[in-house]
Amino acid sequence: MLNLVKYTKELSKYFDSSANILLVSHINPDGDTIGSQLALYIYLRSKGRNVTMISPNYLQEFLKWMDGAELINIYIKDRKGCRKLIKDADLIIMLDFNQPNRLGEAERFVSSSTAKKVIIDHHVNPHDIADLVISDPLRCSTAELVHEIICLLNGKPFIERSYAEDIYVGIITDTGNFVHGNYSGNTLRLVADLLDAGIDKDKILNAIYNNFSASRMKLLGLALNQKLVVMPELRTAYISLSKQELQDYNHVNGDTEGFVNIPLSISGIVLSVLFIEKENFVKLSFRSQGNIPSNEIAAKYFSGGGHINASGGEYYDTLENTVSFFLGVLKENDHLLKNI
Ligand code: 5GP
Ligand code: MN
Repeated sequence: MLNLVKYTKELSKYFDSSANILLVSHINPDGDTIGSQLALYIYLRSKGRNVTMISPNYLQEFLKWMDGAELINIYIKDRKGCRKLIKDADLIIMLDFNQPNRLGEAERFVSSSTAKKVIIDHHVNPHDIADLVISDPLRCSTAELVHEIICLLNGKPFIERSYAEDIYVGIITDTGNFVHGNYSGNTLRLVADLLDAGIDKDKILNAIYNNFSASRMKLLGLALNQKLVVMPELRTAYISLSKQELQDYNHVNGDTEGFVNIPLSISGIVLSVLFIEKENFVKLSFRSQGNIPSNEIAAKYFSGGGHINASGGEYYDTLENTVSFFLGVLKENDHLLKNI
């Protein structure tokens, strides 16, 4: 089990010897990386620290309401400004990822920075890219870990409304609002404290889950009605969406969030994949049941990674070729699908 007290003492020394702290979220940022980033930002600011934030690319629409989201510098929007923040930082904290390619275009500049680097995360197999790695794959979210670290650093519970909202967002988005992921009794006790702190959970749930456009709902209809392919013999189902289809349905960032979970509700299906055509590559999202290691497939064939039951990757080819490559991978690895 992770000795959080020991790691927190170590982290505290890093804070004490740093003048400029930079918090970095991962590319295609989700609620956990952004919730963790904003929560740590609020805490460090409350202690008078000089702290800035970068995200490699734009936030999904359904996260933009969060207090302080506008303070996150977007690398692909302001490359020059972000490079300066990276250059000026003497401590860089990476939240909710452990592989350098999750930094997107910022990878080169973060990797060559001489700042001390810390990872706070809950994914398996961290790459050797930080001086200090605080990681526990048994936690449901990085936000859960961040909250415990902050309570230890603070010497008593640290509870402030928007901080509590940030931690809550990290936890609910990484567990699909307590449906999947490694949430535990510890998580729920911690959430009880957040609720006691007076967070407006209905506001948050509405902002995250009930805030989509009608065209997003129709895109989901298209995905399920026309684009879903079910392969009972391989216990797998997938959905592929082309750039044109996304455009036809006025797609905005975050619209396809959650689509990949749905095919897992088909009886007998243990692996679900969503293919999204991007500018010059295809983004893949994987979800699996039980001990089917979706992250191994993502890492081995699609330059990706993640958790055993929720992972992702990418493939630089057309949508059609990516799907057919995936089908080959699946046939080659059909023993994995019998694992359950
Ligand atoms: P999602 O499918 O919701 O985008 O991502 C699910 C999980 O897979 C998250 O934990 C996320 O961090 C991880 N993930 C998604 N895409 C990638 C990727 O390209 N590389 C890696 N290493 N992890 C990914
Ligand atoms: Mn996470």
